[in-house]
Amino acid sequence: MDQAKQISPIFGFGIRQKLLLILLIVLLSALTVSGWMALEHEKVNTLQEINQRGSDISRFVAKSLSFSVIGYDYHTIQLLLDEITSSGEIGYARVMNQKGNVMGEAGVRESGYFSSLVLFSQDIKLDDDVVGKLELGLSTANTIKRLEQKKYAILKREAIIVLLIALGEFIALSIFIIRPVRIMAKTLADGVDENGHITDMIPVVSRDEFGQLAESFNYLGTRLNEANEKLQAKIDLADRKLLETNQQLRAQSEELRIMSDNFKKLARTDALTSLCNRRHFEDLMHTELNTARRHDECNSMIIFDIDHFKKINDDYGHPGGDSILKDLSALLKERIRKTDFLCRLGGEEFVVLCKRADKYSAMLVAEELRETVEKKRFSFAGQSIKITISLGIATTGQSGDYEDPDVVYQHADQAVYHSKQKGRNRCTHFDDIGMTVPEGQVND
Ligand code: GH3
Ligand code: MG
Ligand code: MG
Repeated sequence: MDQAKQISPIFGFGIRQKLLLILLIVLLSALTVSGWMALEHEKVNTLQEINQRGSDISRFVAKSLSFSVIGYDYHTIQLLLDEITSSGEIGYARVMNQKGNVMGEAGVRESGYFSSLVLFSQDIKLDDDVVGKLELGLSTANTIKRLEQKKYAILKREAIIVLLIALGEFIALSIFIIRPVRIMAKTLADGVDENGHITDMIPVVSRDEFGQLAESFNYLGTRLNEANEKLQAKIDLADRKLLETNQQLRAQSEELRIMSDNFKKLARTDALTSLCNRRHFEDLMHTELNTARRHDECNSMIIFDIDHFKKINDDYGHPGGDSILKDLSALLKERIRKTDFLCRLGGEEFVVLCKRADKYSAMLVAEELRETVEKKRFSFAGQSIKITISLGIATTGQSGDYEDPDVVYQHADQAVYHSKQKGRNRCTHFDDIGMTVPEGQVND
C-alpha cells in the first residue's frame, strides 16, 4: 500500500509531459520541413515570375525602341532608358546598335554573386530584322522583400497551426490517456486495505485499451480477493485447530500434573492411615535432622508401637485392627504440633519427628501421647477397645553433639525396645536406658 503510494505520484514528469515533449518535437520538425518546402515553392514561383516579367518588359521596351534605334535617335533612347530605370524595378538598361555600339545607358550595372539584378537580353527587331540589342537589369529587391514577408507569414501560420494541434493533442491526451491512468493509479494506491484485500475496483470509463486494462485488473482483483478469502479461511481454521489443540494439551498437561501430584502423594502416603509412609519419613528425617544441625538446633524423634496388637487382631479381626490403626492415627495427628511430623513406619509402629525439641520437651510430648492413647476408648463393631503404646525417644544436637539421622533412629528404636522390656505403656529416652523408670513417669 505504502509502496503503491510511493509509485503513484508519477505526475512530476509523467506521461503527459513526456508525450507533450515528443509532440512538440514532432510538430516543430513538421513545421520546419513544411515551412522549408513552402518557401522553396514560393522561391520557384517568384523566379518564374521574375523571368516572365523580365521577358515581358524587355520585349515591350525593345519594341518601343526599334524606330529610335533605326533613326539613331540617341536622345529619345536615353530619355526612355532614364524613364524606365527611374521606377526602381529596373535597375539598369542599355541599348546597342547592330554593330554593338552603345546608343544609351541608364542605371548601374551590378554583377557578381551578390548582385540584386537579373539581366535580360532582348533583340530589337523591326519587321523581323534585328536592328539592335537591349539589355535590362531587373531589380529583385522588391521581390526579395515580398518573399521575406511571405516567409514570416508562412512561419506565423505554421506556428499557430502547431500550437492549435499541440493544444488539441494535449487536451485529447489528458482526457483519453492521462485521466484513465490517474484513475487507475489512484485506485491501485487507495483501494487495498490493511489485510491486502482489494476494496476498490477501477471504474471502466472507456471501451478502449484502458477499459480493457481496467477490466483485466478488476478480474485479477476479484480473483485475488477470492484467493485471499480462501487463504484467510484456511488460516482461521488452522488457528482454531491450533487453539483447540493448545487447550487440549493444557488440559492434558493439567491432568498429568494432577496425576503426577497424586502419584507423588501416594508414593509418600500410607494408604490405610493417610499418614506419611516410611519412605517419606526417611527423607524427612534426613532433611530435618541435617537442617537442625546446620542451624544448631536440637531435634527429637519419638517411635511408638502398639502393645499386644496381635491380640487386637485376634480379638476383633484384621478389620478391627485396621480400624484401631486409623483412629489412633487421626487421634494423635490432632495432638502433635503442626510443625511436627507423624508417620507410620509399618504395622502398628509409628514415629513423631519433633522439630526444635530437646529431651525434656520430647519426653513431655511422648508422655502426653501415651496418656492420650491410654485414656482413649476406641470402638469397633459396637465394642469399646482400650490399647496402650510403648514409646522410645532419642534427641540429637544437645550440647552441640549431633548424631547421624540413622543413628538417632536406631537410638529411638532401642528406647522402644527398652519400654517393652520394662513392661510396656511407658516412655523411655535413649539417654536414660539403664535407669529404672517408673511406669507413666517422664524422665528428664
Ligand atoms: P508387642 O507389645 O510386643 O508389640 O506385641 P505385638 O502383638 O504388637 O507384637 P508384634 O509387633 O509382633 O505384632 C504386630 C502385629 O501387628 C502383627 C501383625 O499381624 C499386625 N499387623 C501388622 N500390620 C497390620 C495392619 O496393617 N493391620 C492389622 N490389622 N494388623 C497388622
Ligand atoms: Mg506391637
Ligand atoms: Mg510391632
